[in-house]
Amino acid sequence: MFKQIVCLLALIMYFSPEPALTHEPSTTSGVSVNKINDHLYQLTCAGGTPVNLMLSTGPDGKLLVDAGRTSSVDQLLEALDTLGNGDVKYIISTHSDNDHNGGNRALGNGTTLIAHENTAKRLSGAYFAFPPLPGRRIPDLRVTHDFSMTFNGEVIQFIHIPHAHTDGDLMAFFSQSRVLYTGDLLLADLIAYVHPEFGGDALSYVNNLKSILDTLPTDITLIPGHGPNYTLEQLRDYYKMLKFTSERVEESWQRSETAEDVLADDRLDQWAHWNGSATTTHMNIWIPDLFRSFSDAEHGRVVSVCDPMTRLIIDEGVQAAVAWYRQARQESPSGYACGVDELNNLGYHLLWRNQLGDAIEVFRLNIEAYPDDANTYDSMGEAYMTRGDKELAITYYEKSLELDPLNQNARAMLAQLKESD
Ligand SMILES: [Zn+2]
Repeated sequence: MFKQIVCLLALIMYFSPEPALTHEPSTTSGVSVNKINDHLYQLTCAGGTPVNLMLSTGPDGKLLVDAGRTSSVDQLLEALDTLGNGDVKYIISTHSDNDHNGGNRALGNGTTLIAHENTAKRLSGAYFAFPPLPGRRIPDLRVTHDFSMTFNGEVIQFIHIPHAHTDGDLMAFFSQSRVLYTGDLLLADLIAYVHPEFGGDALSYVNNLKSILDTLPTDITLIPGHGPNYTLEQLRDYYKMLKFTSERVEESWQRSETAEDVLADDRLDQWAHWNGSATTTHMNIWIPDLFRSFSDAEHGRVVSVCDPMTRLIIDEGVQAAVAWYRQARQESPSGYACGVDELNNLGYHLLWRNQLGDAIEVFRLNIEAYPDDANTYDSMGEAYMTRGDKELAITYYEKSLELDPLNQNARAMLAQLKESD
């Protein structure tokens, strides 16, 4: 069933045009359904920034590309019941973010879960020196290259893009339906977002979208991981933001200026309406990520602080790791990758391992390093909430909301905490 494809984008051009039909979406309790054609559906799971996923259903059974949020699993299962017969045979995960993998476990062991090997490693819960987490749904098949499958009479091509949103990204091209599902390689009407801590790279992200523009036929529909569907023409418009910001950062990089210098340029304001919550899709995050790309291109990718820190936590405890971090940042600020998400992820990996005290120390260190970042306080709020320390949880969520009034998670958690008084 699997075969390597040498040049997938060239193959995509080969298929004869058959425009994708889209209909008005219907809603199945929190999951809206958009019928593309007789066998292909776009499902959108509500909550946070709504997440899109794809369903092929027909004589071969069901195939899902991504499985939505954990919080919308019940609604997803309900929707799947109403859309054709047969079980879900395959889930293909486009990348490791939780909002795309929430249904992987609930859909059961009868399904074959497929992901890029870097995504698979992350889904297992392994993190630098930390071993995989028990109870995680680990992909059954790991791929390292593009591949294609024929399912319900359609050739579906999965295209691996190294180092874009993460280092394990796949896009899915439904060749007869003329639909390209991009996963988070496109966040329509939102500022682009990459995970440098998971091997993502902002410049490679920009170049990848450029190659979609240059290579794909004009009649395809682009379904993004988040946001409204785009035509190629709309992608051309979206690309203007990527092109302007990457060229602007390059200029500043060559003049040894900083991200603050670029962010002060009021020509960026034309895209302010695409800023989402400060924790993800925001110019304040995208511009530093572009700087990091230029730095990586010139000096080589630096190792994450979490590499030595996970080893130190295992061998000597969290305080040794905290002391090492402070010293490393003072003595060699550019010697390690130490963006705000590095420690944030480390904190969560400790939280998931029930090392609550250690997680709190790591989140505290992140607040010390990034006192203006709303998400650091949000994470600390969650750690205290998990520990049952309601007062401190409220304090940190309130601080997060003060810094980012758009932080819906903090707002919801505060409502929950205050309600239970
Ligand atoms: Zn996502």
